[in-house]
Amino acid sequence: MPPETELWNRVEATAREVFGTYGFGEIRPPIFEPTELFARAVGGETDIVSKEMYSFPDHSLWDLEGQRTYILLARPDAGNPNSVQLFVSALDKFIDQLANAASSREIPATSDNDRGFERLRAGSDRISSFLVPHATNLLDQFDLTVGHIQQAAALIKLGDLVSLRPEATASVCRAYIEHNMNQWPQPVKLYYLGPMFRRERPQKGRYRQFYQIGAEVLEREVAGGEGRVASKELEKDAAVDAEVIEMVMTFFDRLKLPGTQLDINSIGHNAPECRRGYVEKLRGALLEVKEQLGEDSRRRIETNPLRVLDSKLEHEQAIIAALPKIGDCLCDDCAKHYAEVKRQLGLRGIPYKENWRLVRGLDYYMRTTFEITAKGLGSQNAVCGGGRYDGLVELLGGPATKGIGFAIGEDRLVLSLQEAAKEVASGEWGVASEKGACDVYIAWMGQKTQETAIKAARVLRDSGLRVELPAVEQKFGKALGQADRLGARYALILGEDEVASGLWTLKKLADGTQEKVLAGDLVGRVRGGAEKERN
Ligand code: AMP
Repeated sequence: MPPETELWNRVEATAREVFGTYGFGEIRPPIFEPTELFARAVGGETDIVSKEMYSFPDHSLWDLEGQRTYILLARPDAGNPNSVQLFVSALDKFIDQLANAASSREIPATSDNDRGFERLRAGSDRISSFLVPHATNLLDQFDLTVGHIQQAAALIKLGDLVSLRPEATASVCRAYIEHNMNQWPQPVKLYYLGPMFRRERPQKGRYRQFYQIGAEVLEREVAGGEGRVASKELEKDAAVDAEVIEMVMTFFDRLKLPGTQLDINSIGHNAPECRRGYVEKLRGALLEVKEQLGEDSRRRIETNPLRVLDSKLEHEQAIIAALPKIGDCLCDDCAKHYAEVKRQLGLRGIPYKENWRLVRGLDYYMRTTFEITAKGLGSQNAVCGGGRYDGLVELLGGPATKGIGFAIGEDRLVLSLQEAAKEVASGEWGVASEKGACDVYIAWMGQKTQETAIKAARVLRDSGLRVELPAVEQKFGKALGQADRLGARYALILGEDEVASGLWTLKKLADGTQEKVLAGDLVGRVRGGAEKERN
């Protein structure tokens, strides 16, 4: 709500401005996409995909869905022909309507659906035969048939599964492939902003609908790079990583976000001589201390040992500190790349902290990972996370492509800026939102005056000033009180005398002084005064 939205808008305008100076253009990915896209890109094992996505089948066949639910919940009794008859009727209706929907292509024509359809028909034939009285002795056969029918009904897909986006990198990569951006001048630099959705436990700084501002650099991979070429490529990638980080830090500086800290790490690449080797080593070390670990960490030894490093549990900290570090297990190329990223950050004068435990929750990262924390946020203090993801575009069916990107949590950024404004009494944001809400309040009285008031408002607004024009005439006392409450700079007083003489009364509300101005001088007077005040 206003005035907070003003801060959001300034944050977004600043992002556009700063990212523009680094050559980034805006992309607006859709709010929902096929669930499949996120499952593949983000990774089926991650919390995001396995339990935090808002997903739903994309169809409007509610009648069919209702019949399916009836079939799934029905418990027909072989000894009661009526209940069998009811079940058979419902099933036949379901099959008929499915056939109609299939022929009008309202449901996806997949082989699974074809198979489910066949089974439903077969089940319908079989179960009808139980309506003949002698069949009651085949009770177990009856239940089995009902079970098969219910399984088949559950399998029928009425619509493709779609999800509200939990993040935007997958969509940007999808768009890169779909629009052949590998044919554009490389690298392709894109930024986005908008809402993301994750079913998380809400708390301060963690919401189910939250906003991210992010950017991605995507670049066609050169084929067959060996020796010097490969080494040049490593250097180039490292410089790109550092420039992307520099851009985020510049954005935060421009906003005067206090107390930022940049953590960096390299998580190597997914090969036996690099990260995979490390993960095995880590798993081994974790097994040795398994008894001292909490339940979550113990489970992760098997599912995803890297995630143990994320643990916030007090008693696990000393144990984790003694575990093998990824930095000692990087392959030559990844080690070179990491060293070059650090050198590049140095060239740019960007302070950083190495944090070997920074592994991040998403599957697609490789080599560089980074995170930026800010003040005033409590436990949810990460305002930005990012990293390199070479190979993600390929995984999604595109050409070999390198990528690096980040996402800033806009809600947290705004919270942190608000906290900072509270600390500094004259905080820029606090004042900015109250000041300038209204430049001129037009206090008009008398029916003949309204037309002049409307025109004056139009002229002032055309010149960019903020104007309040009461919809009905008000007594001057009341109008001035209202102007005060709105924090207006000026009141333009229009009565019948003013309109007749063409000399209007302009009252400066800060000190109560007033003067007569000619209609044609109005904008200049208000603007001149406003400029002076701002300076
Ligand atoms: P991620 O996409 O998980 O790398 O997150 C990037 C940034 O988005 C984090 O550093 C947070 O600032 C922000 N973020 C992630 N999840 C949430 C959430 N549920 N609520 C608010 N901000 C979030």
